[in-house]
Amino acid sequence: MEIACLDLEGVLVPEIWIEFANKTGIEALKATTRDIPDYDVLMKQRLRLLDEHNLKIQDIQEVIATLKPLEGAREFVDWLRERFQVIILSDTFYEFSQPLMRQLGFPTLFCHRLITDEEGRVVDYKLRQADPKRQSIRALQTIYYRTIAAGDSYNDTTMLAEADAGILFHAPQNVIDEFPQFPAVHTYEDLKKEFIRASNRDLTL
Ligand SMILES: [Mg+2]
Repeated sequence: MEIACLDLEGVLVPEIWIEFANKTGIEALKATTRDIPDYDVLMKQRLRLLDEHNLKIQDIQEVIATLKPLEGAREFVDWLRERFQVIILSDTFYEFSQPLMRQLGFPTLFCHRLITDEEGRVVDYKLRQADPKRQSIRALQTIYYRTIAAGDSYNDTTMLAEADAGILFHAPQNVIDEFPQFPAVHTYEDLKKEFIRASNRDLTL
């Protein structure tokens, strides 16, 4: 049996914090791990900014509900789910991604949690585990699933390496250059072909 594992942001939906910053006009929310390498420091800053702008989880989800998955993403996910069991392995948060997951038909998602109080204020966050994408692949292997994974960035490369087959999708050139062992594609049509190629079953488009 085979499971297809997909990264979420950059593969099926835009970068959620960046788009959220665009929608709300809160420039400082555009900071990523490239600007602030310590993820904990970055997340604490994001939560502080949400608080300063009095954004509750309901307001955040309303804004995110106005975002759309990438063009063709829903069709791609539907295509993939007809041929594989599909799991999205993401470093996002359930509460943050939910409006976009709804538009994708709620495929299975493994990610992290935001902690809110009774009023919906985001007070903290909870990472599921360290190196969660790679650990998820390892866990699937222990129950004898073959895995094919696709992602767009550095935080996907341990997942791609651990999987039986790894594919770069929409990756920036520096990632493609640094990880030449993975095929790199840029359209959903080509990504479908890579999944078919990586599968040990006889699949068609
Ligand atoms: Mg990504």
